[in-house]
Amino acid sequence: MQFDTANLTRKILKSLKEIMVENVSSTRRLKQIVDSLRDHLQADLCSCYVALDDDYLELFAISGLPNPEDAIHKVSLRYGEGVIGDAAISKKPISAANIFNHPKYVIKNEDEKIYPSMVVIPLIRANRTIGVITLRKKVEYEFSEAEVEILDTAAMVIAEVLSSDDMHDYKRKLISERGNADKNNRKGSSLSNGYGIGTAIVHRRSQPIKNIFVEDKQKEIEKLSKSHKIMIEDLDRKIIDNNITDKEQLEILEAYKMLATDKGWLRKIADNIRSGLTAEASAERVYEDMWARLSVIKDTYLKERLHDLRDITDRLRSYLSGDVIDEKIEEEDIIIIAKTMGPADLMDYDYNKIRGLVIEEGTPTMHVAIVAKALNIPVVAKVKGIFETIKNKTLVAIDGNEALIHINPDAQLQKTFKKRREEKIEEAKKLEELKELPIITKDEVDVNLYINVGLSFDLDYIPITNCDGIGLYRTEIPFMASNEMPSVDEQTTYYKELMDAVGDRRVVFRSLDVGSDKLLPYWNYKGEENPAIGWRSIRITLDRRAILRKQIRAFLRGAEGKVLNVMFPMISTISEFDDAKETLLLELEKEAKKGNPVPRDVKIGVMMEVPSLVFQLDELVNKVDFVSIGTNDMAQFVFACDRGNPKLTNRYDVLSAPFLNMLQLVVSKCNKAGVHCSVCGEMGGNPIEALALLGLGFRHLSMSGSSFGKVKKMVRSANIEEITDYMNDLLKSSRKSIRPQLISYAHDHAIEI
Ligand code: PEP
Ligand code: MG
Repeated sequence: MQFDTANLTRKILKSLKEIMVENVSSTRRLKQIVDSLRDHLQADLCSCYVALDDDYLELFAISGLPNPEDAIHKVSLRYGEGVIGDAAISKKPISAANIFNHPKYVIKNEDEKIYPSMVVIPLIRANRTIGVITLRKKVEYEFSEAEVEILDTAAMVIAEVLSSDDMHDYKRKLISERGNADKNNRKGSSLSNGYGIGTAIVHRRSQPIKNIFVEDKQKEIEKLSKSHKIMIEDLDRKIIDNNITDKEQLEILEAYKMLATDKGWLRKIADNIRSGLTAEASAERVYEDMWARLSVIKDTYLKERLHDLRDITDRLRSYLSGDVIDEKIEEEDIIIIAKTMGPADLMDYDYNKIRGLVIEEGTPTMHVAIVAKALNIPVVAKVKGIFETIKNKTLVAIDGNEALIHINPDAQLQKTFKKRREEKIEEAKKLEELKELPIITKDEVDVNLYINVGLSFDLDYIPITNCDGIGLYRTEIPFMASNEMPSVDEQTTYYKELMDAVGDRRVVFRSLDVGSDKLLPYWNYKGEENPAIGWRSIRITLDRRAILRKQIRAFLRGAEGKVLNVMFPMISTISEFDDAKETLLLELEKEAKKGNPVPRDVKIGVMMEVPSLVFQLDELVNKVDFVSIGTNDMAQFVFACDRGNPKLTNRYDVLSAPFLNMLQLVVSKCNKAGVHCSVCGEMGGNPIEALALLGLGFRHLSMSGSSFGKVKKMVRSANIEEITDYMNDLLKSSRKSIRPQLISYAHDHAIEI
């Protein structure tokens, strides 16, 4: 479009002048300005962000939205975050016909997807960015230099408005109100989407001790005795309330109570208080002493007692600190608040009641996040200080999409969250309808989608999704949920039940993958400097061969008369695979000799999650029946980037040439050798990442049940030939990430991501 620049500038300045002389508040003036700019420059959206402090920008005015109040003061960006934050830091305008291609672009809201073109102008005063204005259009459109210049001129006027006393007062008032309100609205990082509202249950497990040294020893001893008394009374009451009559259960509880009422234990804690420690620190010290003496003794009974002591110590400490764990949760909807959590911890709760999880620390690939995702539970993590802020039984709402936590939400917000939850249930119903449709791309290429299973709950997804089977059964999860190593018979029962639940579909059993962050409660781990690359997974099971043999025996028996697929995790060398495979074949031979039931066929595969194995592929493909890529671990090793370190969460992207080229190398070699190759890491469950995998040549993806519908929709709207061509170019890119390119490609080609 051609502009009469001078004329347009004149018109805009005239309009701005009229707005400036009106006797209205600065916020009203700002609204009038964005309306005028949008109108004169024929844009679809015009917004103004204001710097609230030197840390972030907040949306103060917007023109073009039907309900602007839904966005104003609700959208904010940190300096440096996204294109807007980038313009604020660089103090330079940014303009793009298709902003989704911009490497800095981050999508804040799904509704933004309809505005590809964008120009961002920083508002500068005294060499500082005090705000930003943006203009967007629904079509791809290159904003001309002349238009950018006009906006630059307007920017000077807006900077005036932002510098007025009236605006300063408004901002001050806002900040001071927030001082109170903000304590109740906290932002973190989203690890799992969705909305939830419920009663906070503070998950206390061995929290750091707040005060170590005591001031008044006598008072502290009294506190100990009072807390201990209440703890024992509560224990008694719980036994009665729960109407426990089962003999075995009562015996266990009695033994537990005996330990909790042990006079020697209490005396030792009191002695430590007398030496100057607080009751909490004393209880911890007594446990540590006991652990140091008893953990070296290989006696199951003593080990169990140590576990009990750990639990009793935690329980006593929670009574001492006033944050009591009430195992019998009456509430139907709960939000768990944790400092950090292991994957088994979630199972302490009735997960039908869990509506959300807030973790002070945490990263997307931490196992508890994976488990929560599988359960469709929203998770917000990395919220500084939240653990100390939220008290037990407070009402909390969690928005996993925007990574927001609302403490004591008002009536309106409560209503909104309940409505969102209903919408989500509705959405799940729609996904149900999808289940009867074939998993096939637009150009009629068949794709197989499987689900990852760990908890028995996951099996519910089989009829819901009508998936092609289980691409990854994390067998360690039942081990982690158990109080002791499950016997061969117990394991056989799990595996048989699983095989029965899936019918004729493919199931891939992964041998025990423990160590690193997946710890068995009944196993004493010696601390390691680098557990992720330490003694874990196949390294443990090859060294403790009896565990592997027993598990294999249970696999063979559980898959009686059916096809058994077994894969070994964390394999670094072919010889490790050979060793594990040999163990399996030997067990098979022994079982057959004994006349025990065996599978109809056995397929032996490998999890590819250690980079060294990629360089042994030529030989490996001749030895394996299938390969499954664990992209979670593979990414952490390829980028040398701890998957559990929150500081590194967004540092590297799997959607970047180095990682994707490596994946392509694996899939092409496997395809050439006729070896079944799949992805079972988190990548397979993220539609945009799954799209890239299709473009690389993958046709088998395994994901959490809750991601299945989204990925199936994506597959049905994609064209393999086109995405393959497009990916070829992207694989040469040296950008940090090709995610924006893929997102914009998906938009342009109506691929549902
Ligand atoms: C992986 O590493 O990608 C994987 C699927 O295994 P886990 O997440 O259980 O380590
Ligand atoms: Mg792994």
